[in-house]
Amino acid sequence: MKSILLIGLGRFGRHIAIKLRELNHQVMAVDHDEEKVQEILPYVTNAQIGDSTSESFLASLGVGNYDVCIVAIGNDFQSSLETTSLLKELGAKLVVSRASRDVHEKFLLRNGADEVIYPEKQLANWTAIRYSSDHILDYIELDGEHAVYEVSIPSHWIGKTVGEMDIRRKYNINIMGLKDGDKLELTVTPDTVLEESKTLLVLGRYKDILRCFRQ
Ligand code: ATP
Repeated sequence: MKSILLIGLGRFGRHIAIKLRELNHQVMAVDHDEEKVQEILPYVTNAQIGDSTSESFLASLGVGNYDVCIVAIGNDFQSSLETTSLLKELGAKLVVSRASRDVHEKFLLRNGADEVIYPEKQLANWTAIRYSSDHILDYIELDGEHAVYEVSIPSHWIGKTVGEMDIRRKYNINIMGLKDGDKLELTVTPDTVLEESKTLLVLGRYKDILRCFRQ
């Protein structure tokens, strides 16, 4: 269980709070809007009304005690930047800030954010990749080039073994596992048979994945 300080309870912050509760983490939620704080109370361990650009207010929260501090303020960049920078100065262990423009991302990283989440851009990338290919069902980006993809098995591969397809040598793609509904199979050998009900978890470069699975 992690302790998380969540600042900014707009739609984005609210979704984060609800998910964190589902995952059983301890959340302190903060917003300067009393109504937002009232609305979030059923989902969080604790909540406070306050201005996160006030150093004394942030200091009173003991920001250094949280495992993660999330700044979920998106539109008010001035507030987001000041909050991010203060959190770091006050000894926050990990500051994750939300950006809503490319230039914000850079400034946040230079001014105290350890990591930046950029929901519109990240989800736009995901949507473009997911829906422009017939085989890619999901993916998690590892760096600008590599990702783990969940792909459906092309029909002409069904019934063949992993060894027969030999995609590591031919396409530079590693099969890390297979998924059958919610069940994960992480032991893959050259004799593993590719069955129609399953999907593949593969690690590789986007262009190699497209080449291998021909969109
Ligand atoms: P969303 O896109 O998540 O719905 P929004 O459009 O309502 O957000 P934002 O400016 O991104 O508005 O702010 C997100 C939340 O952060 C709001 O609920 C706002 O009240 C809160 N907030 C903004 N600045 C501060 C601040 N300095 N201190 C505390 N809370 C703040």
